[in-house]
Amino acid sequence: MLKKGITQKFEVGMILARQHRPNGKGRDNMSNKNNLKHKVYVIQPSYRSMDGKLLKRLPLFNFSYNLPILSAVIPSDWEKQFCLEYCDKLDLKSDASVVILTSTGYEVAHAIEIAEHFRSQGCTVIFGAHMDEMSDRLLRKSCDSVFLGYPNHKQMSEILEDATSGKLRPEYDCGMNVDYPFDYSVLKGKGMWFIPMLASIGCKNSCSYCCYTAVSAGHYRLRHISNVMEDVRAAATFRRPLGFLDANLYNNRNYLLMLLEQMIEEKLNLRWGCNFTIDIADDEEVLSQLTRAGCRVMFIGLESLDSKNMLQLNKPYDPARYLNQIRKIRKHGIMVGTYFIMGLDNDDTFSFDDVYKFYQESRVEVPYTHMFVPIPGTPLYNTIRSAGRLHTEAYDNYSTDNAAAFSVPCSVAYFQPAKMTEEELEQNYLNLNARVLTLPKILRRSLKKHFIDTSLVLGMNLEARKKYKAMQAAKLQKLNDKALHTKFHPSSLLT
Ligand code: SF4
Repeated sequence: MLKKGITQKFEVGMILARQHRPNGKGRDNMSNKNNLKHKVYVIQPSYRSMDGKLLKRLPLFNFSYNLPILSAVIPSDWEKQFCLEYCDKLDLKSDASVVILTSTGYEVAHAIEIAEHFRSQGCTVIFGAHMDEMSDRLLRKSCDSVFLGYPNHKQMSEILEDATSGKLRPEYDCGMNVDYPFDYSVLKGKGMWFIPMLASIGCKNSCSYCCYTAVSAGHYRLRHISNVMEDVRAAATFRRPLGFLDANLYNNRNYLLMLLEQMIEEKLNLRWGCNFTIDIADDEEVLSQLTRAGCRVMFIGLESLDSKNMLQLNKPYDPARYLNQIRKIRKHGIMVGTYFIMGLDNDDTFSFDDVYKFYQESRVEVPYTHMFVPIPGTPLYNTIRSAGRLHTEAYDNYSTDNAAAFSVPCSVAYFQPAKMTEEELEQNYLNLNARVLTLPKILRRSLKKHFIDTSLVLGMNLEARKKYKAMQAAKLQKLNDKALHTKFHPSSLLT
């Protein structure tokens, strides 16, 4: 269900073993205030939008729990500094000796700029807690070390100690050690419109196009409910909706029921949402408990209305049942956001009309439509690549040759569709968005009894509209080419 363009594989391939540079001379050597040993600066960078400007508002798909996770495992004798660059100004003069960069995938081009800046200042720069193959491959070249997965307390201590003692390794394989309470205090004052949560990692399914398949191949891990609840209590103090960023909160029915029971018992007055698979619609007991526990919106990857496409995606759900299933969910007072992917092998130019009609009939609150992007490391990527239908170079060109360029645009066909031309796919994709994301339709979808629901649905629809408008403008005015040739200048770090 994750829809982040190029995402989600820990590539363990060719690694350029980097020679460790001794830790930054003249930086925070042992004498910091409060007897702190050293200082680490943890940064989640922003990225450049299609006009080349640095984005200063956190978009929905860039919400991440990485700062709370990493903060929780940094040893207490280290001074910590954090930057969520969407909200905070990057401290280019930070006196930290170690910089940790973490990215959700979109920010890779700008993350390279930041890494190179801090390395030129004598800092040790480490990249980690990422999930995508592309940023891993590209950022390795600009960082002293990379850690894969999430380090636990011991592993983080080891990494930081190695960084300060000249023993830093080029790579640390940490696994998925996230079963401890996260440190939500790092998100205070960021003005986030929902608080990112996590109960599980991975997914029970192994859809052929999905980044999770590349990483966890149909397996998942659950965090202890006590740890999740500790996070929920901390996040509840923000008085904002919570967003569980799990790939699929319906991985394990019994676990979900126990978690919901706890939420209901504690009467935290929560409103929250999460990704689920559509089979949850057939589970009346879970739906009732979800409503009681404060679940107000579900995001579901429906992907296609064509059963042949679903077979190719290895996604075990029946499109003929979708309408009825969505009605069952909405009967429980839960709003629905759906994802569709256009350009799959059995899609032709009529498929766009089918999806439009589905949106009209189902009245889903958040209709997200994406163009198919083959994701490296997934079975479907390999199929398309071996058929000679992939235009892969495009991904890297957007990031490496053009450091100031924005992330990979989602309105470009990076492959040869089976039943359309690239141009037909791109144009029909934009046309569908134009029909779905009109202001009157968005307003109709957003009229809800509760103000928070209205603002949530309105915000997400407007964000989708804004992206569509940017893609349309880029296509019409050929801004893509212009942005690609924008030269990076160090002063643009702050603009
Ligand atoms: S259901 Fe399929 S697409 Fe969704 S997260 Fe799981 S593996 Fe990925």
